[in-house]
Amino acid sequence: MTDGLWRPLLFFDLDDTLVDHRGAEEGAQRETFERYPDLVEGVSFDEWLSTYRAKNRPLWDAYGRGEITRQVLQHRRFFDPLEALGREASRADEVGDFYFSRYRVHWRLNEGAEEALEAASGLGFVGLLSNGFIEQKKGKIARFRLDRWAKAVILSEEVGAMKPDRRIFDAAVEAARLAGAGGDGRRVYVGDSYAHDVVGARAAGWEAILFNPSDGPPPEPVSEVRTLREVAALLEGE
Ligand SMILES: [Mg+2]
Repeated sequence: MTDGLWRPLLFFDLDDTLVDHRGAEEGAQRETFERYPDLVEGVSFDEWLSTYRAKNRPLWDAYGRGEITRQVLQHRRFFDPLEALGREASRADEVGDFYFSRYRVHWRLNEGAEEALEAASGLGFVGLLSNGFIEQKKGKIARFRLDRWAKAVILSEEVGAMKPDRRIFDAAVEAARLAGAGGDGRRVYVGDSYAHDVVGARAAGWEAILFNPSDGPPPEPVSEVRTLREVAALLEGE
């Protein structure tokens, strides 16, 4: 029997690690594109989606640095791309409401997510650690009943810091301690973002596993998996 105090902490990212966020985003954006033909006339879907993504990245970065509020982010996530395309940006909130009503319909787990969590829960104390909005994240956890494995959920909005800030990783250790899991042993974080997940985890003294299905080279060497099915072997083998 492993001493409970020394159980490794095995935490997972949600979006684009366990949950296929980009697929859901694309599905909801396709419906949004089709719902507002007058707004997107003459624009291809690929241009619409790539403009949305390009305009959203700096908004999330600014939100992460505390430079804009959640309300501003919510408004500008459609205002900025509509404006960039020369469209009626005053309708941003209407479009955003429709998009979010469809986004949740497209949520799916990535292949192997449940197997990875199941294997991890046999090896250590499992938790979820995620940036983003509380209700979206809790909605995903509830939809897929991820609390079957995850005994702690650490969300940036509740901590008041976003990855790669080490405070969110420290909050995970504290939550594990409160749950009686120690936290002084091995700590591993599995996520898809080198900049947020790998950099943040390492700076906080955790090991990182990069979920990298696209196989693009990371900036620095790191333990990588192409599929979530490989996570268990990596956790067991080390
Ligand atoms: Mg992610």
